Amino acid sequence: MTKPLVAVLSGAGVSTDSGIPDYRGPNGLWRSDPGAEKLVTYAYYMGDPEIRRRAWRMRRETGALRAEPNAAHLALAELEKSGVPVRVLTQNVDGLHQLAGMPARKVLELHGTARAVVCTVCHERTPMPEALARVEAGEDDPPCRRCGGILKPATVLFGEHLDPVVLGEAAAIAKACQIFIAVGSSLQVHPAAGLAGVAADHGARLVIVNAEPTPYDDRAEEVVREPIGTALPALLRGLTHEINH
Ligand code: ZN
Repeated sequence: MTKPLVAVLSGAGVSTDSGIPDYRGPNGLWRSDPGAEKLVTYAYYMGDPEIRRRAWRMRRETGALRAEPNAAHLALAELEKSGVPVRVLTQNVDGLHQLAGMPARKVLELHGTARAVVCTVCHERTPMPEALARVEAGEDDPPCRRCGGILKPATVLFGEHLDPVVLGEAAAIAKACQIFIAVGSSLQVHPAAGLAGVAADHGARLVIVNAEPTPYDDRAEEVVREPIGTALPALLRGLTHEINH
């Protein structure tokens, strides 16, 4: 018998236990601080060297790349290792699913990754730590080493579109899966949030794990309001048992 495909949409709530705040959600840090929001808005970032210098300083100081996966990331990696077909569609840019052991090919990063930088001219990707080391060494707005272009994190800034290829793959997974778990996402930031609706429209069993109500709660078969760090591992243990036995 073929095992059901489990799609997991993970939002900021999955990484808060790792010390990473919700930056881009409707009530996220960026939205509540217009000065900070400029640092992650494409037009300001590209148009103002001072914004870029502040953005590089901020990236250096937050140390987000030092965060460790938490119980939720580990439980998802465990689910995959147990032989259950899993795809993770994440709104997070922290790379913690992969760090927890989820194979990179099974993770779609809807908003890109903060672990790489990309040149806005020649599109070369290089590791973020390399760019941060240059900032540390005194370059306050390090340009692309290949072409001199402006470097930005490989994340989707405000004012940028999601990668249509990534979004297309995510939609295909939402349509194909039998179980769709939305965890730690307010399901209010589109188009990622709409994937829950796409999955439900195509007959998937929808499970929502989130502290606050979401617009998709009434379409869910199960809504869990408990803290993610304990609720998700418990939920996934149950699911593993159901699928593998
Ligand atoms: Zn370049």
